[in-house]
Amino acid sequence: MAVETVASATTTSPDFGPAVALSCRECGERVPLGPVFACAVCFGPLEVAYEFSSGAAEDAEGLRKRIEAGPHNIWRYAPLLPVPADVASKPNLNPGFTKLVKADRLARELGITGGLHVKDDSGNPTHSFKDRVVAIAVEAARNFGLTTLSCSSTGNLAGAVGAAAVRAGFRSCVFIPHDLEDGKVVMAAVYGQDVVGIEGNYDDVNRFCSELIGDPIGEGWGFTNVNLRPYYGEGSKTLAYEICEQLGWRLPDNIIIPIASGSQLTKIDKGLQELIKLGLVEEKPYKIYGAQAEGCSPVSTAFKAGHDVVRPQKPNTIAKSLAIGNPADGPYVLDIARRTGGAVEDVNDDQVVDAIKLLARTEGIFAETAGGVTIGVLKKLVETGQLDPAAETVAINTGDGLKTLDAVAPTTRPSAIIRPTLDSFREAGLA
Ligand SMILES: *Cc1c(COP(=O)(O)O)cnc(C)c1O
Ligand SMILES: [Zn+2]
Repeated sequence: MAVETVASATTTSPDFGPAVALSCRECGERVPLGPVFACAVCFGPLEVAYEFSSGAAEDAEGLRKRIEAGPHNIWRYAPLLPVPADVASKPNLNPGFTKLVKADRLARELGITGGLHVKDDSGNPTHSFKDRVVAIAVEAARNFGLTTLSCSSTGNLAGAVGAAAVRAGFRSCVFIPHDLEDGKVVMAAVYGQDVVGIEGNYDDVNRFCSELIGDPIGEGWGFTNVNLRPYYGEGSKTLAYEICEQLGWRLPDNIIIPIASGSQLTKIDKGLQELIKLGLVEEKPYKIYGAQAEGCSPVSTAFKAGHDVVRPQKPNTIAKSLAIGNPADGPYVLDIARRTGGAVEDVNDDQVVDAIKLLARTEGIFAETAGGVTIGVLKKLVETGQLDPAAETVAINTGDGLKTLDAVAPTTRPSAIIRPTLDSFREAGLA
């Protein structure tokens, strides 16, 4: 067929759905959609710009219906993402639409009366929220004809990239600090592609990756969180969309979000703003709160000191997935927390462990250390009067406790070890 010859000769042309350009967050400079992440004029970060609902004017009700009729994963929001309309038919891990758990028992324990939900993103294919961001980066890599998927990772991203690469048919080679938890390392390596441990912390890994991108070795490589970062970031908007849809298309009063680079928090705010602009939810004030571990708290330190700049730290915490000492989106997190009337707080490692156990024993959710940071900070925000307990709150659990067993293993043991007899059970005082 003549038509087929033409089509295969030109390969498929890039299709980014409603996305029309990249724009600089700092100076507004616009550039064509490409595998670039920094503004050539001012070095500011680039982000995806859209033209929504051009053409046949679709009202909010129509768009809501179209979303609700979509697949039970992030692709139901394809009209709001930089992906082709037929994205759901491509090989992908199809993350998202995780449970929004009504957390009444935890609320009672914390003294929250206005309603509390936990958005449980441990339910994603590789058990962290990173599947969302990787899915969008994979579509960008397909569009740009890249062949190798990579990342600098604090652990969860490496696993998400490894699995998505296999499913979508890419080579992958991911980079992690050499001293991560076994759960993260194995989860990344099991997909049979390359996982490289770097002798250094995440910020060293990230620097190394930036160098690799600039080198001929890195040609054809898509680093999900570096040169594909503008697309990657958009995946976090789906958390905002899902929370609001699952609440019945309305905004909560407060959202508590853990911070590593700050990308997730920044893009959740972007997603909420879009929902308001498109009329998908009614506009009302909401507060965004950020959560960090005390051992890596560059953003909460800046917030409390009233600074606009984030001074880098050397991380030392069990919350390794959040251990980014020099967070790229830190200043934007400060802006958002201040603009919305929220806050950025931190808790120490003991409080992280206590919070993991608190969430587990009240709601049956086993979170990784990042989830412990979030719930620990929520507790602290209520106790210190920074969060109104009469307001409706959503806390995000971003990862699965099975990946960070070491954090709780020493203090989480069987009630008893007994012989297989009733006498032995009685002697243990459990009857
Ligand atoms: C990566 C990660 C985050 C947040 O990452 P950002 O860089 O701030 O977007 C939160 N929780 C877990 C478990 C993660 O792996
Ligand atoms: Zn710029």
